[in-house]
Amino acid sequence: MSTLVMKFGGTSMAGIERIRAVAQRVARARAEGHAVAVVVSAMAGETDRLVGLCREASPLAEPAEYDVVVSSGEQVTTGLLAIALNAMGVPARSFLGWQLPIRTSDTHGTARIRAIGTDALRHAMASGTVAVVPGFQGVTAKGRVTTLGRGGSDTSAVALAAALRAQRCDIYTDVEGVFTTDPRIVPRARRLARITYEEMLELASVGAKVLQTRSVELAMKERVPVRVLSSFTDGPGTLVTGEDEIVEQELIAGVAYDRNEAKVTVVGVPDRPGVVAAIFAPLAEAHINVDMIVQNVAHDRPITDVTFTVPRTELARARTALEAHQAAIGFERLLTDEKVVKVSVVGVGMRSHSGVAVTMFRALAERGINIQAITTSEIRISVLIAEEYLELAVRVLHSAYGLDAPQ
Ligand code: ADP
Ligand code: ASP
Ligand code: MG
Repeated sequence: MSTLVMKFGGTSMAGIERIRAVAQRVARARAEGHAVAVVVSAMAGETDRLVGLCREASPLAEPAEYDVVVSSGEQVTTGLLAIALNAMGVPARSFLGWQLPIRTSDTHGTARIRAIGTDALRHAMASGTVAVVPGFQGVTAKGRVTTLGRGGSDTSAVALAAALRAQRCDIYTDVEGVFTTDPRIVPRARRLARITYEEMLELASVGAKVLQTRSVELAMKERVPVRVLSSFTDGPGTLVTGEDEIVEQELIAGVAYDRNEAKVTVVGVPDRPGVVAAIFAPLAEAHINVDMIVQNVAHDRPITDVTFTVPRTELARARTALEAHQAAIGFERLLTDEKVVKVSVVGVGMRSHSGVAVTMFRALAERGINIQAITTSEIRISVLIAEEYLELAVRVLHSAYGLDAPQ
């Protein structure tokens, strides 16, 4: 019998009516002959609410207790789906993270899955019972509850599919698959029938939150075929798979954006070896990820500026870390700007085609959109622009690369 992992996101689980619809989909897959394990998210908005409660209780909530609270949304939906399935005559039972167990590292809030115990699941599934498992949660070797980071249920699902050696991991969400860009911003975005792991990984890491980045990393490593599809409509969705299985590769797979960006300019630093290291060391110590970096060349005096981006949510901490080292770094002042966004184009076709970057720069220039920083990888170009131009930039780039759906 083939094993299938089905994952349902927050909007798909938002309320009893939707949970019943999910139960029907699960029942159908089981009736088609699959052994089914289901991974569920908390109801839409619930995790945000729980995060808010922790902050209200104390801005310094212990990470281990924070995880106890924020993981609870998934416990509720896990139980409710098992109830709905049983009520429909489909045998089902819940298996919480600590019961399986889903073993993770002890980095609370961003834990990594180390191993999943599958004996109890396999036993239940072999007898036709649907196993319902909460996403997002795990347990440390010492028995403390952990969470995997926001959007982490995708990673739970892919990890479970790998552990069960499932044929596929189906990720049900509120859009009909992976699109050439966020369909909520560009209505003319097209659903992709297939996308490579590599492109999906790159898109997710620059903001396309349809899949959590780590879930794609894991799927690529374990070669788990992932399908993204809607829980609201029937359709083929998007298959995330290896490059060898894609016959006609498009030049550009998609455009993504990330609002969680802030720009820092360290003004007036000495232009000599060691200065950039002195700037980034305190940020590294504070575990702040630096993304785009621009250093200007000094001209008439041996003083220059260094500009870089950090996650907007980390800006205050970045400022504090740098100010504490102002004398050692030797900068004059700090400028910060939170009204910036990163827009990226991604496609494996970039490896073999020239002119991809100039198309991007020209399209933005024609609309008067100024580029504040640029970074590239082998298959991606990202630019930093003012936040007010976000939607315009995404739309313009989507058209410039010929991605618009025919009208
Ligand atoms: P879930 O709660 O099911 O995990 P998410 O909100 O995490 O759903 O992810 C789905 C959302 O991802 C969509 O509603 C869409 O707005 C957004 N999204 C961003 N980029 C893309 C893209 N390229 N293709 C599809 N959806 C995208
Ligand atoms: N409920 C968690 C979140 O909102 C995990 C998930 O839905 O993937 O981030
Ligand atoms: Mg999600």
